Amino acid sequence: MSDYPYVIANLFVLLIFPFGYLFMPRLKNRQNRIFAHLLILQIVLPPFDFAVGWADAHAAAWTLPVRIVYSALTLLSACWFFVFTTNILRLKAEDVPWVRFSPAALIVSGAVTLCAACLGRVELMYSLFRLFSVCWSAASLFLIFRFRDRLSRYERVSAAGSHVVLLAGNLVHIVFPSHLLVSTANLMAVINFFLAFENPHLYMSNRGDSFNVRAFREVMEERVEKNSYRLLAFALRDYIDMRSIYGGAQMDSGVSMIGRFLVQTYPEYQVFYLRSGRFVILGPESMDWNQMQQEIYDRFQAPWIAADAELDLNALFIQVEPATGLDSVDHILNYMLLAFENAEETLSRPDGLIDADSIRKIDRQIKIKRSLDRCLEHNEVEIFLQPLIDSRSRMLAGAEVLCRIRDEAGKLISPAVFVPIAEQNGCINLMGEQVLEKACQFVRDHNLDEIGLSWLNVNLSPIQCMRKDLGERFATILEQYGVSTEIIHLEITEQSVMDISRLEHQIQVLRRIGFRFSLDDYGSGYSNLSRVKQYPFANIKLDMGIVWDYIRDKDVLLPTIVQAFKKMGFSVTAEGIEDAEVADAMTALGCDYLQGYYFSKPLPVEEFVTKYTMLRQYT
Ligand code: C2E
Ligand code: MG
Ligand code: MG
Repeated sequence: MSDYPYVIANLFVLLIFPFGYLFMPRLKNRQNRIFAHLLILQIVLPPFDFAVGWADAHAAAWTLPVRIVYSALTLLSACWFFVFTTNILRLKAEDVPWVRFSPAALIVSGAVTLCAACLGRVELMYSLFRLFSVCWSAASLFLIFRFRDRLSRYERVSAAGSHVVLLAGNLVHIVFPSHLLVSTANLMAVINFFLAFENPHLYMSNRGDSFNVRAFREVMEERVEKNSYRLLAFALRDYIDMRSIYGGAQMDSGVSMIGRFLVQTYPEYQVFYLRSGRFVILGPESMDWNQMQQEIYDRFQAPWIAADAELDLNALFIQVEPATGLDSVDHILNYMLLAFENAEETLSRPDGLIDADSIRKIDRQIKIKRSLDRCLEHNEVEIFLQPLIDSRSRMLAGAEVLCRIRDEAGKLISPAVFVPIAEQNGCINLMGEQVLEKACQFVRDHNLDEIGLSWLNVNLSPIQCMRKDLGERFATILEQYGVSTEIIHLEITEQSVMDISRLEHQIQVLRRIGFRFSLDDYGSGYSNLSRVKQYPFANIKLDMGIVWDYIRDKDVLLPTIVQAFKKMGFSVTAEGIEDAEVADAMTALGCDYLQGYYFSKPLPVEEFVTKYTMLRQYT
């Protein structure tokens, strides 16, 4: 006799939980579809528990089809739990090749179970489908363990817990067939999965029924893979300023109103709020975004009335589709962010659509970022050398190490473009270390006397100085190549935004290790004469701007500054020497070293070595 009270309890839970779920806002993605199927199976299964229990008690011949359908549904449910698990683990065919065979495994196990039924071996049929269900759970547990890094701790525990419960339910049923615990176990697993992966609170932004960034990522990952999406994104103009004008609470309710307006106006599309006044509407490729943009633009012509306040807001729009050429969700998010940031400067169109020039600028920035990542990953950053010439003898004295990267087509990209990007996203540390390593490699592999080189100047970004262990890391690199700190000098540009005390401290640390410092780009804007004294610089490099100003209008400012530096004990280098007149003028002012295109542009290492080795031999 079967144990019906479990099933009755399950039915009560099923009345509340799944129906609630079905009426909540849901993302249109694969994970959700699989979960909805799983839920439907759990709603269908309990009546079969009753039917099969009754059929077992009466053992009539006509009950066989009921038992077969029940077995098939239970097997399907076990398999569907497995499919859900592979989905939350974001498994790809290349991760675990055997997962591809799961449909075949389901068909074979179903057929074997059916054969047992056809042979009239009902007990064997029950045991078989329970056994196959145990196998699905065991396979799921294996995958959860193998790819545990892809889940958060909570998700991991929930997913593994669900499968342990499923496994236990089936084992109990094999040992005690009259206890109808399998549906209860299934239900517990579904609720557990719901809480960890499907709970709307995980996906909803708290702005007017729209979804959040996590939801955007999950949905877009699938869409980008299939190359089928259209996005209309817009950002509230001057969001930060508007927030301080209207106040946080009012602005929040205004943003919620916009969210609700979008969800209600476009129920067939998915609306996401990506924080800081940025919305995205995702539709199929057939979406008419021009019309939609016009409608939203028109709505913005009237104020948003929230909590007794009228909010007058404007929006900037951008359209993104696969043809835009972005191959990951991160790139899409980055692209939209850059578009909105740059649009504020360049926007000229009255309809608020970000213009083609801005888009081109962003495209270029994204391409540069990609090239930078690629070069750093493969250690492909190159160094070029530019001579530092002794002003009196006009002979080579030192050289500045200048880094270069190449784009996909192999064309050189200027550091003036990629260094600021590297500084912004933190990869300047890795870049700086690779440049220093290559400079050390150059010193190790060449006879500097034959070239006439006494030292190399390596640029150090102030951002690198934020790293506490910078000194140790640099010392280790020099040690590794057997290079003395006497040969490597560091050039640093003072920047107003810097944490001055941290910068001072780092310079002192590096000084103690033995590095000598040059102050780069003096006169380019941030330099402060009185601060120069505080740092232990050995050399000051005059920025080419200040040099060229002097050539145009020979006032007393630059001569006075150079004399002051010399009295303070610094040597002085003039940058941007493009012709003989400038070279002579800077020599006359007392500059010790000269750098510029007049002597040489930055050269690839081997070209530099050949040129200066030959020059040395002929002089
Ligand atoms: P910088 O350190 O002031 O380097 C001098 C820049 O001026 C170089 O540009 C050089 O090619 C250019 N230059 C030299 N002589 C002349 C001249 O006569 N006329 C003109 N118009 N320009 C001249 P480059 O190589 O494009 O580097 C730009 C900046 O990128 C550098 O300015 C430096 O701040 C940064 N940078 C380069 N390599 C590195 C590096 O390895 N690490 C860091 N942190 N920054 C680097
Ligand atoms: Mg420099
Ligand atoms: Mg410079």
